[in-house]
Amino acid sequence: MKTMNLDIQPIQSWIPNIQRPLIISGPCSAESEEQVITTASLLAETGKVDVLRAGIWKPRTRPGSFEGVGSVGLKWLQAAKKETGLPVAVEVANVKHVYEALKHGVDILWLGARTTVNPFSVQEIADALQGVDAIVLVKNPINPDLNLWIGAIERIAKAGITRIGAIHRGFSKYGPSKYRNEPNWQIPIDLMRTLPELPMICDPSHISGNRELLAPVSQKALDLNFHGLMIESHVNPSVALSDAKQQVTPVDFNTIVDNLILRDTTLADNSNPLGELRSEIDRIDDELLSLLAGRMQVSRDIGEFKKANNLTILQAARWEDILQKAIEKGVANGLSKEFIAGYLKSIHLESINQQTKVMNGEGVVVAS
Ligand code: PEP
Ligand code: MN
Repeated sequence: MKTMNLDIQPIQSWIPNIQRPLIISGPCSAESEEQVITTASLLAETGKVDVLRAGIWKPRTRPGSFEGVGSVGLKWLQAAKKETGLPVAVEVANVKHVYEALKHGVDILWLGARTTVNPFSVQEIADALQGVDAIVLVKNPINPDLNLWIGAIERIAKAGITRIGAIHRGFSKYGPSKYRNEPNWQIPIDLMRTLPELPMICDPSHISGNRELLAPVSQKALDLNFHGLMIESHVNPSVALSDAKQQVTPVDFNTIVDNLILRDTTLADNSNPLGELRSEIDRIDDELLSLLAGRMQVSRDIGEFKKANNLTILQAARWEDILQKAIEKGVANGLSKEFIAGYLKSIHLESINQQTKVMNGEGVVVAS
């Protein structure tokens, strides 16, 4: 489906004097007035924060976990805003949250991952935002679904919100992973391609789920030209009531941001080494495509043979053998096992599709 034409303001016009990247930081949850004010003041002292965040209503996976302090926390945020001069951001998940947050002078509202998945909730929030001059950020849905993310952004934008952005916080996955939420970078990259003017913020805290991965994930986001970062911080992370493992002290936050490298975002012209390297990549990509086309031709020939001899298309043992050999070779050449497996699976699927066409007597059109 065609994406709507959205009126989106550049991030520089949202808040005066912000430089790239926009940095949002603060606790996962507001827990007490003292925790909010102390964390906010220490963050403000670093001079590296543009916006303070805190969760007031917490969507928790299991009941019985800390579910947020509720509206009283908004007063603490108001006090922190007064003390530091920094704008504040909170998560809103329903209409009541929107009204309460706006009543308490919250500058930025964000929709959490568990809200973006539900078009009813998003639409209710969008309706409550009609005619309101707020900044709204939309986190990706929990599941890796680009259209659901775009749909939520469209609903909010249709309500007249023009200072709108997206937050990439990773996608859930069943089973072991080094991340709490898989980054699946291809999805935010596809969003950037679909809505190039949309400000993109990365939340390395919820992607990582631990402190160790915060720096590399933040750097990766900046290298992919994200406009900002949202990093959870707490005056004493080890006793945090939610997300204790991923929050950092304001001192550690300062170090992480200090060490980030901001690269040039302009496209270099073709006379320098980058231009030459890019032509080399284009040439190799062309070569890979012709090789793939050749491979598919062989697959179709195999399809003809299998059809004539009444053989099944999928021969599991043969496929397993191809996969194992390729992984072995790929790893020896410095490629990751996951990459080889993903790449071969995709090729294998296309081969099966092509062979199925041959079996069904459908022609495959190849331009000469
Ligand atoms: C949060 O930012 O604390 C939060 C609950 O995030 P998410 O919606 O990404 O899980
Ligand atoms: Mn959190």
